[in-house]
Amino acid sequence: MNPQSLKIKIAREMSDYEIVVGNDLIATTGKWARKCLGKGATKIVIVSNATVFKLYGKQTVASLIMAGFEVSYFLIKDGEAHKSLKTAEAALKFFAESGLSRTDAVVALGGGVVGDLAGFAAAIYLRGISFLQMPTTLLSMIDSSVGGKTGVNSVFGKNLTGAFHQPRGVLIDTSVLKTLPQRELTAGFCEAVKQGAISGKTLLGQTGDFLAVFPPRKFRQFNGSEKFQARLSELIAAQVAFKAKIVAGDERESSDRKDAGSRKILNFGHTLAHALEKVTDYRYFKHGEAVGYGILFAAELSNSLALCGEKDVELLNDVVHRAGSLPTLANIDGKQVLEAFKFDKKHLSGSLQMILLKGIGKPVIRTTKDIPRISIQKALKRFLQKWV
Ligand code: NAD
Ligand code: MG
Repeated sequence: MNPQSLKIKIAREMSDYEIVVGNDLIATTGKWARKCLGKGATKIVIVSNATVFKLYGKQTVASLIMAGFEVSYFLIKDGEAHKSLKTAEAALKFFAESGLSRTDAVVALGGGVVGDLAGFAAAIYLRGISFLQMPTTLLSMIDSSVGGKTGVNSVFGKNLTGAFHQPRGVLIDTSVLKTLPQRELTAGFCEAVKQGAISGKTLLGQTGDFLAVFPPRKFRQFNGSEKFQARLSELIAAQVAFKAKIVAGDERESSDRKDAGSRKILNFGHTLAHALEKVTDYRYFKHGEAVGYGILFAAELSNSLALCGEKDVELLNDVVHRAGSLPTLANIDGKQVLEAFKFDKKHLSGSLQMILLKGIGKPVIRTTKDIPRISIQKALKRFLQKWV
């Protein structure tokens, strides 16, 4: 299948960049990088982790060398805990030792952890050098590699130290998903359902139909089928196009915007997700799995506030469950979850914002001042009882 190419215009930074989506594209990395970076770039540092580099590093390096780049690589340890200032500092040291100059570039080869860390290090090294994204998880393909949010976790909280730094290009080779563990696929698809829910019936329908035919638990079985690869690339391209459209309209997530085009709507399902992650010490759920529950909770709360109908809730329930099974909520304490909601609130001048739905594709931003506290409490109690 021919790769699909999307052009993204981010007006403020005057930095258009292209996102290429297709099957078996790693061998084209060198040519693509040259096109994105121009003739001036000579050195590239690939940032990756051992898991991903072992699978796809050799091919990536070979292709970049063929295109005339001098290549070295910096591998971080696998896992969220290593998306830290300490790792970023080690990366900066490596960039300096490799002699990266202002015209050179960083390539992130990996999931969201690698992409966020590499992008952040590229954003602050010499006050910002070019970086390219080669996302290898479903979540990073449809979500984190597009939009320019980079950063690390720190004592201030998860993702709260960072910079906006747009990549110069994104290469999405969907065939690498053949090695992605099933839980990671489910987590990625939950974010896809989230984007479908706020985008509209077309994207949600496309996502739901894909999952009905190709459930993640059977992914390996479909591997090698051309129809599967084509449908997968189409879905990922549609998902990316949606995320790109939102980001292009609100690059830096303006804090005063409350309209349906605000970047904040991408946080649909994230209020409960963040709370669930927090009360389980970030160890129990994959982020996307928590978002799966978050979508269902936000939909049920919207329904209880008479914003959306029962049918929308059922539809979302159906599609989330097609993404795969989620870890049980049996041991989650509702009181702790309510407490954890307050944590998100701290960062938004005292009032928690929730993204609710007036219907599929009709997100609305509400602050907790607009939602009776008792409604949230009741909805949460019902929700936790239902999902044990
Ligand atoms: P991840 O980067 O931890 O990857 C998940 C696991 O999959 C890792 O163990 C990784 O080594 C492995 N892996 C990656 N690609 C693989 C492949 N093709 N085959 C086999 N194994 C593979 O997790 P993630 O879900 O990709 O990203 C989560 C991170 O993204 C979080 O830190 C989150 O904060 C961040 N994020 C950022 C944004 C943003 O806008 N910048 C948006 C959403 C999430
Ligand atoms: Mg998310």
